[in-house]
Amino acid sequence: MGDQGDSSAECSIKVMCRFRPLNSSEKSRGDQFLPKFPSQEQVTFGQQPKTYTFDRVFGPSTTQEQVYVAGAKPIVKDVLEGYNGTIFAYGQTASGKTHTMEGVLHEENLMGIIPRIIDDIFNHIYTMDENLEFHIKISYFEIYLDKIRDLLDVSKTNLSVHEDKNRVPYVKGCTERFVASPEEVLETIDEGKSNRHVAVTNMNEHSSRSHSIFLINVKQENTITETKLTGKLYLVDLAGSEKVGKTGAEGTVLDEARNINKSLSALGNVISALADGKKTHIPYRDSKMTRILQDSLGGNCRTTIFICCSPASYNEAETKSTLMFGVRAK
Ligand code: ADP
Ligand code: MG
Repeated sequence: MGDQGDSSAECSIKVMCRFRPLNSSEKSRGDQFLPKFPSQEQVTFGQQPKTYTFDRVFGPSTTQEQVYVAGAKPIVKDVLEGYNGTIFAYGQTASGKTHTMEGVLHEENLMGIIPRIIDDIFNHIYTMDENLEFHIKISYFEIYLDKIRDLLDVSKTNLSVHEDKNRVPYVKGCTERFVASPEEVLETIDEGKSNRHVAVTNMNEHSSRSHSIFLINVKQENTITETKLTGKLYLVDLAGSEKVGKTGAEGTVLDEARNINKSLSALGNVISALADGKKTHIPYRDSKMTRILQDSLGGNCRTTIFICCSPASYNEAETKSTLMFGVRAK
């Protein structure tokens, strides 16, 4: 949906980089704070400094509100006009992905992108004409060891990807919850998170090894003209991108590492093929996640990737590899 005119010419993939502050364990170890921020689009990083350019770079004192306004608000506007979109957070464990996507859910200053999007969508609806009927539904699932688990129905632990009659891929059987207020959405998120907690013994470890995907589908119906408009937005908190030590890893840990590696590189390949603009073959079919996101990435869609980074010298190698993922997506 949306127009096919000037929008397809401009690159619809934006890459934004966010550095969090040094945390207490980094400070007590005496880690250096490495990044420098020469402009709003650049970061200089490394013991041998190198400068990386993105659509936007956020330093450690950037507020949740600033990140939202620059990185997500424009996409919400487009979704309300019938476009599809995806927002990702990529980075090693503890780099700030969940802080960026979700933040502290019920706290006005600290809430992240997802609750702000919800507020914006409902605020928009409240200002609209009565002839417009909105139907908002959400799904919440995770991909772990290449299995799709419904976070709103714990009995669904291995859902599969199908195509609808328009050949649009979707997660078959995944719960779709109709919601009528921001409070209802937050309750649904809390429900999904507590289901996730119940299923695993160590939540921190688990969340660093699974991708969590929150889908908002907005359908508008004009009751007079009977025209319909649908936009959907995927919000993805990716598994940690850190390399697992080559020696010692075995069993589940090794399987997890291989799976994460495979799915993150499949995502990187799709994004860089889309960003290239000249590629005719986009390898969506290489992973479940890229299949699911197929009609919400690149092209006529809106995509923002948040590259989340630790500023600490201790994490230099991982941060460089995270920055390179972002560079490849440009
Ligand atoms: P990830 O999801 O990438 O594993 P988190 O988002 O959970 O990482 O962040 C790890 C810790 O760092 C959390 O306690 C979080 O509150 C904190 N944190 C992350 N980013 C920021 C930031 N920009 N400002 C302040 N604290 C942050
Ligand atoms: Mg997290």
